[in-house]
Amino acid sequence: MNNTFDTLYENILANISEGEKKGLWHNIRKKRGNPSSKWKNDPKYRKQMKDQAKKIASEKDIHDPVRPGILKRQVKGKVTCSKARSIKGKQKDKSNNTAKAAQRFLNYHCEASKATCCGRCGRVHVKGTKCKRPYLKGKDHCRNN
Ligand SMILES: [Zn+2]
Repeated sequence: MNNTFDTLYENILANISEGEKKGLWHNIRKKRGNPSSKWKNDPKYRKQMKDQAKKIASEKDIHDPVRPGILKRQVKGKVTCSKARSIKGKQKDKSNNTAKAAQRFLNYHCEASKATCCGRCGRVHVKGTKCKRPYLKGKDHCRNN
């Protein structure tokens, strides 16, 4: 358990830029005060670290092209939002490279699939999906956060 965590931790530090590293430490310090030598064993901190790791890992996943051109090879002509959506829908395994590439295309090029602040319900969600109740107003509205 300790080893797994330490490996994970070292991997994160090895894979993030100086700026991100500073941000990470800054966040940890801010939340914890100055960490003592025991800080690595604090379950709360470890959870936080894992969450950070997941976040960083998923961001890397989205931004790094896995196999450039993977979508282009599968459509006639230009890749469009609807073609990308249909390719994604056809994948049985949603975690394969094609599905990821399609999702990445959607994330970057298709506004409709992005979650945005909804003026009506005051929550952040994808346009066209249902509004959750209760509607948030005033200081709770996502516009004001
Ligand atoms: Zn809404």
